[in-house]
Amino acid sequence: MNIIVAGGDGFCGWPTALYLSNKGHDVSILDNMVRRDIDNELHSNSITPIADLEERVAKWKELTGKEIRVYEGDLTHYDFVKQVLKLEQPDAFVHFAEQRSAPYSMIDLDHIVYTQTNNVVGNLNVIYGIKEVVPDCHLVKLGTMGEYGTPNIPIEEGYLEVEHKGRKDVLPFPKQPGSFYHLSKVHDSHNIMFACKIWGIRATDLNQGIVYGLDTEETKMDPVLANRLDYDGVFGTALNRFIIQSTIGHDLTVYGKGGQTRGFLSIKDTVRCIEIAAENPADRGEFRVFNQFTEDFSVQGLAEKVQKVAKEEGFNPEIAHLDNPRVELEDHFYAAENTKLKDLGLEPHLLDDEVIREILQTVVKHKDRVIEENVMPQVSWK
Ligand code: NAD
Repeated sequence: MNIIVAGGDGFCGWPTALYLSNKGHDVSILDNMVRRDIDNELHSNSITPIADLEERVAKWKELTGKEIRVYEGDLTHYDFVKQVLKLEQPDAFVHFAEQRSAPYSMIDLDHIVYTQTNNVVGNLNVIYGIKEVVPDCHLVKLGTMGEYGTPNIPIEEGYLEVEHKGRKDVLPFPKQPGSFYHLSKVHDSHNIMFACKIWGIRATDLNQGIVYGLDTEETKMDPVLANRLDYDGVFGTALNRFIIQSTIGHDLTVYGKGGQTRGFLSIKDTVRCIEIAAENPADRGEFRVFNQFTEDFSVQGLAEKVQKVAKEEGFNPEIAHLDNPRVELEDHFYAAENTKLKDLGLEPHLLDDEVIREILQTVVKHKDRVIEENVMPQVSWK
């Protein structure tokens, strides 16, 4: 298949592009490199040194003979999107290219507006481009489990059968997101659902859990192919952030009580889920929703897992309960469905001590790159 990976320079996009290329798909990457600019804005960095995208794809070609074409540009510019679609005529458009940090979206009005404009307008350009240029192309869009929030009933995969005043219908599952970033994803989902209905495009919304890990078989082939790994209070996700904190003598920063429970998955499963979605496209006019996570953990539970392995590796981290900078329930019911990707063949990589140990050992090699003051939360929701 010809597959465009938008956001292919980022944490999920880069290993996905390599994985799909390795599987024999004809892959191109579209990215405007804004994530690297945001590192400069936040005086932050990836703990792993990451090569320029040009260097990355050149190394990939040298090692495998496979070419990944690069289009550097911004999804919010429709002429650019249309041009790339015309040139590539993709079978699938994998859309990772959004501002994805909840704290970043809560910094101030400029960051709220940037996040929602970047994400919503970029996504509108993609769906309009598909309608106009490649109507048969399957949109594989990254959403988030955070779109649902934490309702007091089990979370279904996109839709809920409701009985109301004696009548029944299957309706979109209610969305109660917890940040302006998560809201941007909800807006995207609604826009895509509407586009499927009116224009008959085909789309899969992947409501992804929090991704941990950094390596896949492909990124391990050479240091130039290394994936980025974020640890700061703005972009670092739980687990990865705890592992890095444990290696630099920092407390593991659990926000509030730590009872917040979320869906998680390994980066190794992210790449496979994208392959499954791309190879099993939605029908024309179908807006399909998969919950893309493999296990759920509480934040406190994750910190305890990391603390145990870190101790075995000779570190001695404490778990600290900070005032929660977010507005969220800290003790709540959580049960979410995740059968659709497994039904299509996903065999999850589960989180065990060895997985944590492997990430921890990689981190140790680069711990001199950690900017310690970035580890604490710096953005408040209030
Ligand atoms: P990332 O920030 O590492 O990568 C996103 C990439 O998109 C970056 O390379 C960035 O430069 C690019 N980009 C952003 N806006 C763009 C635009 N307007 N035009 C072109 N390129 C643009 O993020 P990630 O962690 O790889 O996440 C990828 C996607 O997966 C996001 O949509 C995110 O919401 C979703 N997701 C991620 C996680 C996670 O734990 N990382 C969890 C759930 C969902």
